[in-house]
Amino acid sequence: MKRIILALAVAAACLPLSGAKPKKSVVIIVDGIAKDVVERLHVPALYDIARSGSFGPSYVGGEVGTYSQTPTISAVGYNSMLTGTWVNKHNVYGNSNMQPDYHYWSLFRIAKEQDRPVRTAIYSSWTDNRTILVGEGKPETGGLQIDIVHDGYDLDQERFPKKEKDLHIFDYDEEVSRQAAASIREEAPDFSWVYLWYPDDAAHRYGDGTYVDEYVLKAGKQISRIWEAVQYREKNCGEEWLVIVTTDHGRRFLGHKHGGQSARERQTWIATNVKVNRRFKDGKAAMVDINPTVCRFMEFRLPFEVQVEQDGVPFIGRLDITDMTVERYDKKAILRWKAVDKKAPVQVYMATANNYREIGHEEWVLLGTVPASTGHFETDIPDSGFCKFALVAPDNTLNRWFSE
Ligand SMILES: [Zn+2]
Repeated sequence: MKRIILALAVAAACLPLSGAKPKKSVVIIVDGIAKDVVERLHVPALYDIARSGSFGPSYVGGEVGTYSQTPTISAVGYNSMLTGTWVNKHNVYGNSNMQPDYHYWSLFRIAKEQDRPVRTAIYSSWTDNRTILVGEGKPETGGLQIDIVHDGYDLDQERFPKKEKDLHIFDYDEEVSRQAAASIREEAPDFSWVYLWYPDDAAHRYGDGTYVDEYVLKAGKQISRIWEAVQYREKNCGEEWLVIVTTDHGRRFLGHKHGGQSARERQTWIATNVKVNRRFKDGKAAMVDINPTVCRFMEFRLPFEVQVEQDGVPFIGRLDITDMTVERYDKKAILRWKAVDKKAPVQVYMATANNYREIGHEEWVLLGTVPASTGHFETDIPDSGFCKFALVAPDNTLNRWFSE
């Protein structure tokens, strides 16, 4: 009887509303699974999620050999997802001694800066994700709060005692995935992040082979729990969900290691349940695209200064411009880009300092506005030899640093 009453209460709490469907999103990072492993195993959860959307390649590591080259290390990747920026901005270079630059807003910060209430949740096998990367409660994040928290298992050795093969980490993932599924089913936070850890540990231990395969498939089952909860909400509560599943880096040859810039370490993947744009289909999606994709889906508005520092572009919906480059020719900087919407007006901005990373503000100067089809813009390089450029079009922004 009690169960029936509870079921009725849950159903009543999420009766479909008339009008626009409430939008909700969840990003799942499952640690360190090479794309070729996902494809060889055809991990059912990921291809189920992709049925109405897409499964495709993505990359981490920034741009090789330039100012944005980024270590293919776990926390570095998580923070690229959170902030939509590479390491030269978010400043997390490894898994310890982390000093994130909170001026580059995380998705949690963006959610809380909206002029409407947005409920957030974190379900995570690694507590540092909340306390350090997201920076919950810190003055630098404006005292940011997360509404629903399920983590701390890695700090609770009584409940999760150390096991052989680090299988206590698998236990955290089991707990995290169960808590995430139950919370999404019952509370449906507007934006949530799930982090699962063990596949990376298994691979560090054994490299490519049957053990990793077994635990990648088990991680798939954990993801299925969450996907089932999302489907429950969509079916019973009239909500529209964005689900993004990805990994934080690939793996070096043999599968044990990662951190460098080899093709297999940079290669990641994304599974999503929503229709993707041409750029994703062309295989150009990156870890830094997840933040702008969530922002677009959730209709989050960003302050100009936060927006123009983001290194990613949405992989859903329209883009006006892509593939920005900056070259030097004598004392001129030559900006180039590709036009997707030829008629879109492109505003070209320059900043001659990099104050944003210290104080969170920048003096951006509008140099001019040209149609996207122009595809290039020239300006003088300042005497200091350093400047930042941002291209602002109606549907997306791009930016580059220039340094001599
Ligand atoms: Zn990792």
